[in-house]
Amino acid sequence: MQSYDEALAQILGSVTVPLATELVPLKQARGRAVASDILATCDLPPFDNSMVDGYAVRAASVGSASEELGLSLPITMEIPAGSWPTRALNAGEAARIFTGAPIPQGCDAVVMVEDTDEREHGDEDDELGRVTLRHPGSGGYIRRRGSDLVTGALAIPAGTTLCAGEIGLLAALGLTEIPCPRRPRVGILSTGDELISLAHTVLQPGQIRDSNGPALAAAIEEAGGMVVRRAHAKDTPEAVSEAFTKLSGCDLIIASGGVSVGDHDHVKAVLEAQGTLSFWRIAIKPGKPLAFGTLGDALFFGLPGNPVSSLVTFELFVRPLLRKLAGHMGCLRPQITVTLATPLAHTLGRREFVRASLDDNLRATPTGAQGSHRTSSMVGADVLIIAHEHHGDYPTGAALPALVLS
Ligand code: AMP
Ligand code: MG
Repeated sequence: MQSYDEALAQILGSVTVPLATELVPLKQARGRAVASDILATCDLPPFDNSMVDGYAVRAASVGSASEELGLSLPITMEIPAGSWPTRALNAGEAARIFTGAPIPQGCDAVVMVEDTDEREHGDEDDELGRVTLRHPGSGGYIRRRGSDLVTGALAIPAGTTLCAGEIGLLAALGLTEIPCPRRPRVGILSTGDELISLAHTVLQPGQIRDSNGPALAAAIEEAGGMVVRRAHAKDTPEAVSEAFTKLSGCDLIIASGGVSVGDHDHVKAVLEAQGTLSFWRIAIKPGKPLAFGTLGDALFFGLPGNPVSSLVTFELFVRPLLRKLAGHMGCLRPQITVTLATPLAHTLGRREFVRASLDDNLRATPTGAQGSHRTSSMVGADVLIIAHEHHGDYPTGAALPALVLS
């Protein structure tokens, strides 16, 4: 039997470069990876500006101000955000300035409005009034041009996943089209004589609904892939072969069911005949058998049919590969340490991935019996707790690693 680590390394090793790059409108770029380093196209901020609402001054002219004495200066300009100062600030003057407004030439400090007392304006020479400064704070409250990023600096490294923060930075830089590896085009094949699609409202005796198809489609979309083809095959070599043909043109094909070695399992043999096959029994639970290979230009996964096994093996092996194809630097789920809220029975020999919910204190409770047919055990699964192959049962309070699903 293959170990989890060996299988994962071999699968990820099959992809060396992401898919071809395309330009994606910024509005649609959330969740995508950037294909290459993004360099700052301008200085951020683009000009010196005020960090606070207050008064722009020359520090030298307010050096003597203190809380007791104060210093009264005439207000000679008003500079709101979005305007540009029409002249330089002279010694002995103050300009009323607002957060984000440009700093006038000559100014080297802004005094917060909270540290001032403003007096009503008096005569014509004093049109904007006067201000009394306390705590002038030399050089304070100015955000310098380029203090966030200077032109040409690395803004976003290649492989970064674009989330709200990155989208904001790209917008600040004025970038409207982002180079990203294209989304993997994925085909899904559900195999089994017993399966009917959701289009049928009534189950005949012996039938069940194809739930893997919709579940895998959701998992693929969530991982950043695009479901472009769907097929169902009865349990005959001819039907499986025909479905393979129907799915050509994809980057990745994911089949579920029919991958074991029973009389009605044909995925493995047909893949061997029409493509290339690596077949493993992986020492994990759930989801022992897994077929991996190529079919035409596509990578191919044959996942076990049991609903939990197919989704868990998708999580463990398919999702990382999809993320790598789409160019994401971090293609694995983050791993955290959780504390067991209940005892966990575990048999030596296989690495077990236990569906569990988490509370705010990272205490994990398994989502009920872990049978691989129990579709309901996927509901509310925040993590997959990892029970190690060389360890037996775990007591309440044990600290275990877990893969974060949501
Ligand atoms: P198999 O791997 O084909 O032997 O299937 C194992 C189990 O998973 C059987 O109980 C199948 O009925 C079930 N199964 C296979 N494919 C699906 C599917 N697409 N949706 C729901 N259950 C499935
Ligand atoms: Mg089957």
